[in-house]
Amino acid sequence: MPIGEVSGSDDLSGGLRSLSIPGVLTRACPIGPASPVVVDSPHSGSLYPNDLVCSVPRMSLRRAEDMYVEELFANAPKFGAIFIQAHFPRSYIDPNRALDDLDPALLSSDWPDPVKIGEKAQLGHGLIWRFCPPDLLMYRDPLPSSQVHRRINKYWRPYHDCLRTSIEYIHQRFGEVWHLNCHSMPSSRRPGVLHRGGCAQADFVLGDRDGTSCGQEFRVIVADTLQSLGYSVAINDPYKGVELVRAYSNPAAARHSLQIEINRSLYMNERTLQKISYFEALKADLDKLIAAIADFATTRLVAAAE
Ligand SMILES: [Zn+2]
Repeated sequence: MPIGEVSGSDDLSGGLRSLSIPGVLTRACPIGPASPVVVDSPHSGSLYPNDLVCSVPRMSLRRAEDMYVEELFANAPKFGAIFIQAHFPRSYIDPNRALDDLDPALLSSDWPDPVKIGEKAQLGHGLIWRFCPPDLLMYRDPLPSSQVHRRINKYWRPYHDCLRTSIEYIHQRFGEVWHLNCHSMPSSRRPGVLHRGGCAQADFVLGDRDGTSCGQEFRVIVADTLQSLGYSVAINDPYKGVELVRAYSNPAAARHSLQIEINRSLYMNERTLQKISYFEALKADLDKLIAAIADFATTRLVAAAE
């Protein structure tokens, strides 16, 4: 599939451009002055590749998407941020997992690369899923290693390359980068239990891997802004952040990554997958959040320059 650059506003002089890789990802550049902010939505993709042959009904796969998250954050470029979204589904290959977080038992042949089965792969939700939530077996037969390599090279690597180069570019240009990694979560902590009185989630969960993926001030500005808008916010519980906030962050070197999980019941019916009427109000509030992050980040740059 060709890699094509799409037209559009590109305020980032010096090389980084808006990008579209059909079926894989889109990167939108800032409209107007750039701020040192990168926003990404890795799990909202819904273009299912033809070679995904699995035993799970499509509706169950769709329930596993972070549905509509790319739409909720789509205005990020209006506030000077780069915005990246995946188009492929996480149930095909998960960009929020390390390459070695792979269960070799899924494969029909030897895997030549190192594996380090982490907590997610043990649960069946590693790089390639064994189970679709809550516990549906994804594949009746083991997958050929060649197919997994293909998924890595065609989807996982381009996504990571795009995010990494965007973060590096912003860091090089501004000396700091603030990366917001956007997700959504089921309204119940009990897998597969929706609206049945399962342990309720907060409206938002922020994850900085227990304070290791960003400076505390980033988490504070996001939490304070959301709370001032009337939302409840939990920190690192039950979601701490995974590979995409780990891989390119280094707070000591002014590279900050923070995961944000939105409670799906705020904006959609989790059974029918339809948006609910609050969707637009939530999107307007998330515009305020991105504006607050951009203002925070830009103010720091101005203060540092004085
Ligand atoms: Zn997610």
